[in-house]
Amino acid sequence: MNVHTRPKAGKATKSAKVAAKAAAPGGSEAIAPDCAGADFYAVDRGLQQLLALYLPPAELAHMEPHFKRLGVLAGGRLDELARIADRNGPVLHARDRAGRDEDWIEYHPAYREMERIAFGDFQFHAMSHRPGVLGLDAPLHPVAKYACQYLFVQGEFGIMCPISVTDTSIYLIRKYASPQLKDYLLPRMLSADPAVQWKGTQFMTEKAGGSDIGRVETVAKNEGGTWRLWGEKWFCSHADADVALILARPEGAPAGTKGLALFALPRRLEDGSRNSYRIVRLKDKLGTRSMASGEIRLEGAVAYPVGRLDQGLKQMMDQVNLSRLSHGVRAAAMMRRCVNEALAAARHRVAFGQPIIAHPLLRRQLMKLIVPTEQALSMAMCAAWVMGEADRGSAEAEACLRILTPLVKFRACRDNVAVATGAMEVRGGNGYIEEWVNPRLVRDAQIGLLWEGTSNINALDVITRAVGKSRAHKALEALLRRRLGETKGLPAPLMGRLDTALTRAVALAETVAAEPASEPQARRAASALYHAASAVLLAWEGTRDAADARRALFARFVLDHRLSPRDPLAAEDAAWEPDAIAAVLDGGPVPLARAARLLAG
Ligand SMILES: Cc1cc2nc3c(=O)[nH]c(=O)nc-3n(C[C@H](O)[C@H](O)[C@H](O)COP(=O)(O)OP(=O)(O)OC[C@H]3O[C@@H](n4cnc5c(N)ncnc54)[C@H](O)[C@@H]3O)c2cc1C
Repeated sequence: MNVHTRPKAGKATKSAKVAAKAAAPGGSEAIAPDCAGADFYAVDRGLQQLLALYLPPAELAHMEPHFKRLGVLAGGRLDELARIADRNGPVLHARDRAGRDEDWIEYHPAYREMERIAFGDFQFHAMSHRPGVLGLDAPLHPVAKYACQYLFVQGEFGIMCPISVTDTSIYLIRKYASPQLKDYLLPRMLSADPAVQWKGTQFMTEKAGGSDIGRVETVAKNEGGTWRLWGEKWFCSHADADVALILARPEGAPAGTKGLALFALPRRLEDGSRNSYRIVRLKDKLGTRSMASGEIRLEGAVAYPVGRLDQGLKQMMDQVNLSRLSHGVRAAAMMRRCVNEALAAARHRVAFGQPIIAHPLLRRQLMKLIVPTEQALSMAMCAAWVMGEADRGSAEAEACLRILTPLVKFRACRDNVAVATGAMEVRGGNGYIEEWVNPRLVRDAQIGLLWEGTSNINALDVITRAVGKSRAHKALEALLRRRLGETKGLPAPLMGRLDTALTRAVALAETVAAEPASEPQARRAASALYHAASAVLLAWEGTRDAADARRALFARFVLDHRLSPRDPLAAEDAAWEPDAIAAVLDGGPVPLARAARLLAG
């Protein structure tokens, strides 16, 4: 059956009847397949369009074979390995076989194979920092790097934490460490040879505080020129990393965040012996089960100061912000996997005489999964592009990145939770069963709400700091206004609505930022800014390629459903939607003229 046309309720077409017959009771043909074996790059027109927009042509041409290979891996081997590693999580051993207190973590071979793909083959950890990765003679453009993360995560999410945190640790060492420390750490950290490589991580959170990091109790003592750490860290992902960037309070330093210093904590000392800290236990986690998160006790562990002792948190925030952006990308990736799964299920599964994708209410629910997925992709790719501009010295881009980072982390991670749940529901009861990928997607989505700052902490960062203190929203607004100016071919009323939404979202953010009593509205204001920004970007992206303006349709869905007042007791006037939904779900390109006609409806 043609899924693009809206069937009349209750009337099944001939091909739907054939499908319904195939789905006879007891026949496993009735069970909808998952995406195993899919090529996640080939099916992702949104990603392909944005890469063509944001990457220089030569770099895109060079990277395309790698994106294709990663897309095939993510839907194939990585997906298989991720399933196995999720079911066979890491195990902590307190001692080695000779009874020495040298704790070690045992990983399933599937996890080790994923490490080889990530750190050896694609070298995610090094792609921003040195030439030679994937045959390039320069570090990758951030858009290419985050596109790689986005494709990889559609297969496996858990190991992206060690990958990303190694990358971000290298960033901090390069930026702040002394020349001697750089010489010591960087050749190891940048290596792709597992026999040499040191992977990184980041330990901040303690029992007393995660959000309120000023409550850190770990003490750093300078003993004859050597710094030693005493205390406990309560949440330590990638617990057995070779070098951890860690916050501690030097003896005598003031209380609160001002007294925190940043240290590099090696797992092994220069003579090869183990440093004096132990992994006390591993967390029994809801999600990210392939990756080891633990608790560590520091018992006079040797650590090297990184940068200025009185700038510890400020420096660490560079790493936090890079991780936040990566989390936004990961949320976009997981949502895309959810959408792919939901479409695979909806196209195959038959109910009431026709594939469920033909039922109008289910079609609307599918759009509720697709629109936030495309919003997140637009926002994440824009942030990655802005990062590239900031790297080239643009102050406006730097300010844009400042606000886009917590904005994407906050909203995309929240949307991921709803999208993962919605995709599970589209698969029906099978979506709840661990043999299918949906339960893992639902479990993994939750962590985005917590690490690198909860939703509240990120929304407050957007409103009180990025808007209130840094005024970074001005740079974002300027960028979005330029994008609006470049958007041609869409109906004037839609353009007017986009303009108004942007103006009002900026005004709301400023009002909430200016008035301390408005703090409870920080999440609402940050959401409004995200939706307005993504609607503008979607409209702009949709008009860049006259042959396929599908993305412009998403802009109107965002305007209608996220940025317009609604009366819960009134029937909706959404006559334009069924045809627009058909245009989206049919998989074919939507020429700009057709998109404009639909949008004018
Ligand atoms: C699986 C996992 C792995 C992790 N890995 C790491 C790691 O490797 N390294 C690391 O350092 N940390 C790690 N974390 C810790 C994580 O970053 C923290 O859990 C998170 O920052 C929240 O801190 P908390 O748990 O202390 O909660 P709290 O800070 O106590 O927050 C509790 C609630 O209070 C709210 N809240 C706090 N302050 C405010 C405020 N001012 N206004 C409004 N609401 C507020 C929060 O939003 C939250 O809802 C990990 C956590 C998990 C679950």
